[in-house]
Amino acid sequence: MSRQSIASALFKGLIAGGLSVAALSPIYAQAEPLKVVTSFSILDDMVETIGADHVSVTSLVGPDGDVHAFSPKPSDAQSLADADLIVVNGLQLEGWIDRLIDASEYQGDIVVASDGIKTRPFEGHHDEDEGDDHGHDHDGHDHDHDHDHDHDHDHDHDHDHDDHDQAANGGEEGHHHHGDIDPHAWQDLENGEQYARNIRDALVKADPDHADDYRANAEQYIEKMEALDAETKQRMAQIPEQNRLIITSHDAFGYFADAYGLELLSPVGINTLAEPSASDMAQLTQQIESSHAKALFLENMSNPALINQLHEETGIAIGGTLYADALTPDGEGSTYLGMFQHNVDTLIEALTTND
Ligand SMILES: [Zn+2]
Repeated sequence: MSRQSIASALFKGLIAGGLSVAALSPIYAQAEPLKVVTSFSILDDMVETIGADHVSVTSLVGPDGDVHAFSPKPSDAQSLADADLIVVNGLQLEGWIDRLIDASEYQGDIVVASDGIKTRPFEGHHDEDEGDDHGHDHDGHDHDHDHDHDHDHDHDHDHDHDDHDQAANGGEEGHHHHGDIDPHAWQDLENGEQYARNIRDALVKADPDHADDYRANAEQYIEKMEALDAETKQRMAQIPEQNRLIITSHDAFGYFADAYGLELLSPVGINTLAEPSASDMAQLTQQIESSHAKALFLENMSNPALINQLHEETGIAIGGTLYADALTPDGEGSTYLGMFQHNVDTLIEALTTND
């Protein structure tokens, strides 16, 4: 047999043995993982759990980061430009994402993880009182995050881009009005299950070769969420009725409260960019004192000053730290399920004691 016919026979044998031509080509031999960029750490963990070895995930806002107050860097636009897929929460959580996507010239799919969930309107406790002051609340965030005391108009620029809104923000104006939809949907595990289904479907579409793995991983993941959801409902039912009012830095737990039976008050409303005025704080302190709130809770990604101030003024105990809009860099809060478990444990511990 000539050398050529040996090669030919070998080739035919491989084809007959079930190897595709693509598998023989060095270009396809080592498939690169799908490059996914997520807006914040909770989505990062979900995509990693469902995508496993087939994905390489970058999160724009990392652990302990505040997704409300994020200021993208040029390197973030580069991450998007290189991405195969972008996954965002939607519901106007990422007010900064449309400009960033425009800047990156990313042309691929944008997956809105919250698509299809039952949304919850946000009804702030001091809606009516704020009126036209709302814009000032937003400007207030600059000095926390950008050291931008003198550039109050930065805020306005954000909204000059509203006409470029994409699916990520549901086509709504990017402004965070009171009365908006609450974006913190992941704090109800039933919504987490929908996030997982949306992420699974997007990965299957982007990388059909690994569809079976994505489906199997998502199924296991959703089963764990269902189990934790059922367990959480049982455990939260132990909390005495009179202990169910709590105070958190910002209103990140509305979905949690609706699903598992809590009542909430918070100094800054739905968005960490808001800053309560002195009169807001005075009103809130009064409201808390007359409300028999059981405990105050810190958040891993929020400044603790407000809660500490309320603790000093009202004498109400601090019940611990809840993981709100971000995972933690390590430890049990470094996964979505771990974050959830931690929050439930912390709440039960603080609210089932009668002292
Ligand atoms: Zn939030």
